[in-house]
Amino acid sequence: MLRRVSRRSNRGVNSSISSALAIAIGLWLASGSSAWAQSAAPPGEAGSPYQNMPAIAPPGVRVDRYLPLPHSAAVPSVDPAKGYRLQQLGKGLYMVTDNAYQSMFMLYDKGVVVIDAPPSYAAHLKQAIAEVTNRPITYLIYSHAHIDHIGGAAELGGHPIIIAQEETKRLLVRAHDPKRPVPTITFKDRYTLKVGSQVLELSYHGGAHEPGNIFIWAPAQKVLMVVDMVFPGWMMWSGFADAQDVPGYFQEVAEIDKIPFKTLVAGHVDRVGTHADVREQLEFMNDIKSATRKALQITPVGVGMTAADKANNPWAVADNYIDRVVVKCVNAVTPKWQSRLAAYDVFVWDQCFAMQQSLRID
Ligand SMILES: [Zn+2]
Ligand SMILES: [Zn+2]
Repeated sequence: MLRRVSRRSNRGVNSSISSALAIAIGLWLASGSSAWAQSAAPPGEAGSPYQNMPAIAPPGVRVDRYLPLPHSAAVPSVDPAKGYRLQQLGKGLYMVTDNAYQSMFMLYDKGVVVIDAPPSYAAHLKQAIAEVTNRPITYLIYSHAHIDHIGGAAELGGHPIIIAQEETKRLLVRAHDPKRPVPTITFKDRYTLKVGSQVLELSYHGGAHEPGNIFIWAPAQKVLMVVDMVFPGWMMWSGFADAQDVPGYFQEVAEIDKIPFKTLVAGHVDRVGTHADVREQLEFMNDIKSATRKALQITPVGVGMTAADKANNPWAVADNYIDRVVVKCVNAVTPKWQSRLAAYDVFVWDQCFAMQQSLRID
């Protein structure tokens, strides 16, 4: 596993390990045994680094500092006294964000429709709404079932009608979580909410991130909200944002690009997105995919392994192969992307790992 790669990284760990290893190897060879001469370290200890080990730290390595964020000067700030920022996205439609999570609410003549309630700023959601209206929250829409996006639902109070895709209801019944009340209205493919002069179109395009994760489309405002799929300007969260279905994730991100939105509310990061952001992420994803596919083809099996492990330990053979594939993937994509996507270094290893797994078994 990659976590074992960590101690072979180029982050200054090598030099100290190398000298310790040199002593260990010397002692070992002096003792007359040659069984481990090839791997140069006792079993379970870090050996020599993989060939062409990337300078970007693999999982498990504590780094002294991360790559600078390419855009940090342009981020609209969140007032620490309030704990959130409000941004109007069109007629009666607002985004609430703490620059890490994003939710929305929509005003109509008799009330307010809330879309997602992240627990990280749930305590402030009613305050955010009170900045623009004193109408009651009548509807609540769940983008999907994950607690980090809707775990503030119960804190909203009142008795809003809760709308979600039917898979989300199934997952919430199973979770039995008082913080995430079970939806009152569910749908399979499409649902249109018309309230006063406002319209929201909900649709299901497959559960690549999690079954039940929907597209929320405000046609008048040309705002699309889809959560945990696109990360405008940023590296995706690890493992293609914890996608439960990686090939489906590729399809669904491409699907997002087909909707004629002006503004994408993606559920995370410090700003809304555009089509250019979606296309940039698709380009990055396709680069990861082709680099990994090539690495799977050209990486030899069992390099540097003892004959005994090669013969008797198939898990170790796979681990060694996968690590080498992932190293090649990281090296292939880094020059083009490391200064284009914020936090590239934080999760690139995880994307390459998830990609090789999907290409091998999906
Ligand atoms: Zn999620
Ligand atoms: Zn999320």
